Order: sequence, then structure tokens, then C-alpha cells
Amino acid sequence: MKLLFCPRCGDVKKLKVNRKRWCSCRSSWGAYGQCGERAFVGGDAIIIGLHNRDVAEGVNRGRAERTTLRAWMFEKDHPRVTQVTESNEPDEVTA
Ligand SMILES: [Zn+2]
Repeated sequence: MKLLFCPRCGDVKKLKVNRKRWCSCRSSWGAYGQCGERAFVGGDAIIIGLHNRDVAEGVNRGRAERTTLRAWMFEKDHPRVTQVTESNEPDEVTA
């Protein structure tokens, strides 16, 4: 699972397929491409990955006990994260 994090306003948003999600200050946006795995990001956005299995296991355990989740920040040149500029705006992502 990928989340958009804005370093300016601290907002965190869940990415959606083919649709841009903007942070509160509108300096960052992100979206999944058609495949639902590759992320496109604009502005100052940082993509945070949550380990899907950790989330699923935590949900299955319920909230009776604390669950530790693994998370990381994707580097800008990661194959599943594309930094978008005006010159490489993908057709599959809309505002
Ligand atoms: Zn922001």
C-alpha cells in the first residue's frame, strides 16, 4: 500500500487508481496508474510504502493488541514511483 506524504503540510493521503489526490496545501499529489501498483507523483510528494502483509495480519488480530507495521519511503527513481513533470504527465492519471 502506498501513501502520499507532503513534507510541507504533513498531510497523508491514500493513493487512488487513475485519479490525483492532492494534499491540503496542494504542493503535492499522487495517483496509482492503471495497474494499481505504479505510483505517479508531483510536486514535493514523498511516497510511503506500508507492508501489506503487516497491515493484513494486524487487521486479522483485531485491536486487542498492538501491531507493528513496517513502512518505508520510496526513493525518487524507484521503478514503481515516477516523478511527474509537465513534460511527462501520464494520460492514465486525471485530476
Ligand atoms: Zn501539502
